[in-house]
Amino acid sequence: MIPLNGEDLHINWQKELAQAFTTPEQLLAYLDLDPAPWQAGLAARRLFPMRVPRPFADKMEKGNARDPLLRQVLPLAEEFRQVPGYVRDPLAEHDSALPGLLHKYRSRVLLVLRGGCAVNCRYCFRRHFPYGDNSPDRAGRQQALDYIRHDPEINEVILSGGDPLMANDRQLSVLLDELEAIPHIKRLRIHTRLPVVIPSRLTDTLRARLANSRLQAVMVLHINHAREIDEKLAALCRDWRHAGITLLNQSVLLAGVNDDADILVQLSERLFEAGVLPYYLHQLDKVEGAAHFAVDDKQAKHLMALLLARLPGFLMPRLVREIGGENSKTPIDLGLEPR
Ligand code: SF4
Repeated sequence: MIPLNGEDLHINWQKELAQAFTTPEQLLAYLDLDPAPWQAGLAARRLFPMRVPRPFADKMEKGNARDPLLRQVLPLAEEFRQVPGYVRDPLAEHDSALPGLLHKYRSRVLLVLRGGCAVNCRYCFRRHFPYGDNSPDRAGRQQALDYIRHDPEINEVILSGGDPLMANDRQLSVLLDELEAIPHIKRLRIHTRLPVVIPSRLTDTLRARLANSRLQAVMVLHINHAREIDEKLAALCRDWRHAGITLLNQSVLLAGVNDDADILVQLSERLFEAGVLPYYLHQLDKVEGAAHFAVDDKQAKHLMALLLARLPGFLMPRLVREIGGENSKTPIDLGLEPR
């Protein structure tokens, strides 16, 4: 195990986390925007708290009320709308195998390390998830590890959340020690949006720990728009990739954010410049309060056809949807082949 004497490296990202905007009024003032047009929606933060770190706000365009990054995080009046088919637990996840452990796929388990996220995305399918009941204490974590130890068919552990990178490097390293000691575990996958909103979370310490692990490390970022990848994040991603960590991206197709072929092409190109491969483009999960982000399948397929004409196959994300109870993501048939 690598000595973790670089704890000071954590101070920056943890400070930035502590300084996140938690009210729409603060964020709108920072962006030189008049809060008046949003008054009806500001109360929506009671449905799902608002949290926006400053480095993410710095990627927004000041004075632009239609900024696609702002739209992802600002509470809106539409969240109060009850729309048939939109429910609190769209993927039927609230009943898990053990607290903090979801065994949805045969060879993979999903471990909830931390309940919270650095940013609260208004379209999040887990916006109503009872993290309080599913964030295990030390005994719960041991139970989850025992479960993994006793099932030799499990070869991959996916750290999810919440955002697993909310745990500090020391906590992650301790967990890695435990997983490395289980012979049938080959891969560790980390699903995270934290580096996108606070790039300094990609510490040298964590990179070195993952690069030296016997487990193959995969980090799946969540980026929806090319503007989320500033030069700092791009440079860090390239460093991580050069250290041997596989970097993939999943996006959610969101009305008013990225439901446009030019924007999706720019996203794939920018990801690749940063050493990240586009992986999935998700159709929105039908969670209560997020219907205003939905893009219908017909439009989604049309967008994919436009992308196919403009991108090489390896920069094409796969259009998928998650269906509660299904043991993998369901591809949406485009009726077309990548070039
Ligand atoms: S970072 Fe991911 S899990 Fe967290 S609020 Fe956003 S979409 Fe949800």
